[in-house]
Amino acid sequence: MTAPAHPAPSARRLRTRAALLAVLGEHGALSRAEISRLTGLSRSAVSSAVTDLIDEGLAGETTAAATTGRGRRAAAVTLRRAHALVLAFDFGHTHVTAAVADTTGAVLGEATAHLDVDNHPREVLAAARTLADRALAAAGHPLDAIAAVAAGIPGALDTRTNVVRAPSTLSQWIGMDPAAELGRLFDRPVTVGNDAEMGARGERAHSGGHAVNDLIYVKASTGIGAGLLLDGRIYRGASGISGEIGHIQLPDTGTWCRCGNRGCLESVASIVEVRRRLAHVLAPGARPDDAADLPPLGELAGTPAAARVIGEAGRTIGRVLADLVNCLNPAAIVIGGELGLAGAPLINGIRESVDRYAQPAVAEAVEIRASRLGLRSELYGAVDAAVAAAVGPD
Ligand SMILES: [Zn+2]
Repeated sequence: MTAPAHPAPSARRLRTRAALLAVLGEHGALSRAEISRLTGLSRSAVSSAVTDLIDEGLAGETTAAATTGRGRRAAAVTLRRAHALVLAFDFGHTHVTAAVADTTGAVLGEATAHLDVDNHPREVLAAARTLADRALAAAGHPLDAIAAVAAGIPGALDTRTNVVRAPSTLSQWIGMDPAAELGRLFDRPVTVGNDAEMGARGERAHSGGHAVNDLIYVKASTGIGAGLLLDGRIYRGASGISGEIGHIQLPDTGTWCRCGNRGCLESVASIVEVRRRLAHVLAPGARPDDAADLPPLGELAGTPAAARVIGEAGRTIGRVLADLVNCLNPAAIVIGGELGLAGAPLINGIRESVDRYAQPAVAEAVEIRASRLGLRSELYGAVDAAVAAAVGPD
């Protein structure tokens, strides 16, 4: 897999879409010609945007009808529903994305900035406000239109207190209440969860109409964490810190982990470690810094030596996931995060270990695949959480 299955829509397409939503919201029923006149967009741009809106269930179109005197009345396009809008954030370790979406989950505008999220919480919150303004401008709506806000953060959030509690990641965020901070910025109800939980929500929301009740979403990136969807509900645990599979111990590994233990899964199979090994294999003698210059993992996966390195990481992650499969009997394991972009060599490695170490009856029941949302599961999950807060869960 070299590109996300759901690439970010182009800025022009988002602007066109926002313009259509705005005029239809204001005028009600409009013919395509009237939309073109009111927005200044070409007939063909209007036509393709109308088709998109109809495909997504956001708009409908009456059939053309004969009228007395003036020939045929053109078909009219109308919005199918009044839409409440939501604001969603995906905070990663090195990026923040803000998205404005409607209650169907369709993203109408978004903006991303790359910055050091872990070490600069104040700057990150300021950036969140700026990005929200940019996403709102792209969607063509004011902040007043937003009904609810949700965010995924790349660290552990104690659900008893809403405070970040992460000894090894987000150290500068410890003791902060991100929901309260974002609530002050936007004066709206705010839902915050960890990124893997949001990833699981995103996968459920974009499961293509199949009911998914038991799914493990693995965000395999700088850290490795799991979002657990069990019996149809997100499982957070007693204090909200479930799914920390990156710190499960592997046998025969003595590598130091940033948590202070040795032999943790993420100390040997994080994207940082995989890139370091890839740099060594593909360019012997490369300095560790050069790992950042490697091509995307999806491109490297076609190189036999790189596929071996990625496959080994897959087998290592699969060793831990096999225990989860034994314990929880999930229907699906979805691999997201940057490592998920490696595709087949990674998934095959995970499958090999799950088949080897999980009981046959549970191993054969679980589908293991890379996320079809590329790196966007967490963002879509935050949209889903914000929609649930705005209109209630579906
Ligand atoms: Zn650890």
